[in-house]
Amino acid sequence: MKLEYGLIWPATKVLGPGNRFVIWTQGCPRRCFKCASPELQVAGLGKTEDVSVLADMIIGKKDIDGITISGGEPMVQAEAISQLLSIVRQERPELNVILFTGYRLEDLHTENRKALLQYLDVLIDGEYIDGLNDNIGLRGSSNQQVHYLTDRLATFREQLEGGRRRREIHVLGDNELLTIGISDKYTNNGCYGEEQ
Ligand code: SF4
Repeated sequence: MKLEYGLIWPATKVLGPGNRFVIWTQGCPRRCFKCASPELQVAGLGKTEDVSVLADMIIGKKDIDGITISGGEPMVQAEAISQLLSIVRQERPELNVILFTGYRLEDLHTENRKALLQYLDVLIDGEYIDGLNDNIGLRGSSNQQVHYLTDRLATFREQLEGGRRRREIHVLGDNELLTIGISDKYTNNGCYGEEQ
């Protein structure tokens, strides 16, 4: 099974505790006001890769503590992400997983979406509302909720919910920068990540 993604990044320290592999999935049915990643909204414009290939990339990355999955809207590709995380878990069960979704946890009714929850340690859910962006924590706006589906990241509650946001800027090539991090309300330069 293939996963469509807009971007993957092998290691960041600003999207959850420790060093994290990040996947930004491609395709999102929402059109949030001031979405900082509009290039990830339209499905079909990203790259596609077999989940086994992506899993091997993660498994082979020995210096990471976890995986962060954002978008786009990951729940649109819930089955593919479950397959990916199932493979990873067999080889690297110590890796924790954080996933962002615009859906509310209680609205995840399909079998594929409910099945994905078994692979997650933290789910950050809810629509991004720019007027409620308080520049705090890993959630984009204060209406979004951090759900601890296991206790593996419970000790990082302060960092996830109340911590100061941080950014990484990476040079990709000539005149091309990648900013990783949750955007502040007044800068709006990187919802979950952005190529510039
Ligand atoms: S902010 Fe996130 S959920 Fe909203 S439109 Fe952009 S990618 Fe989709």
